[in-house]
Amino acid sequence: MPLYGGITLPGHPDLKLTQDIVLRGYRLTTKDLTRFFKHVKWSPDTKKCWMWVGGTTGGYGILMMPGNRTVRANRIACWLLHGPPPEGEFHACHSCDIPSCCNPFHLFWGSRSDNHKDCGRKGRCATQRYPEIVLGSRNPAAILTEKDVLEIRKSSMSRQEAADYYGVSTRTIKAVRCREKWGHI
Ligand SMILES: [Zn+2]
Repeated sequence: MPLYGGITLPGHPDLKLTQDIVLRGYRLTTKDLTRFFKHVKWSPDTKKCWMWVGGTTGGYGILMMPGNRTVRANRIACWLLHGPPPEGEFHACHSCDIPSCCNPFHLFWGSRSDNHKDCGRKGRCATQRYPEIVLGSRNPAAILTEKDVLEIRKSSMSRQEAADYYGVSTRTIKAVRCREKWGHI
């Protein structure tokens, strides 16, 4: 029995919500989910990308939540088909390689290394474009970009919020903020 009463999940009978969506410590309401769907150009055709038409950061859709927090739209979309992410650092990875796509059928929960393999396979990783440089986001182990790092240092998000948002550990956020990591920028 879906907990979100009154919402018709568009697109496909496989989309279902059997439990509340909780992202970055916030439980999404029916209203939030309605707003989410207003920003997705969904189609009954699950082969098509469902483009996000709201705000974005680094190409990824974001949705504002109460308390000035933002959640990534692709994480909401991934949840609609696959349920909550497994424990640990999991990313809503795109099989279509379109960051703003919110078609749950194009998304899967991937670990840090899946995410990297996924983008590596498609030649999107900086390590492939700049194999000679292994610094910052060009380091194969990095999920953060230089832009993320600068945002993290400026942002007033708590360590936990930033960790959830960027899909890294709280230890990484701490290291970024005190320049143990990414000291070169
Ligand atoms: Zn797609």
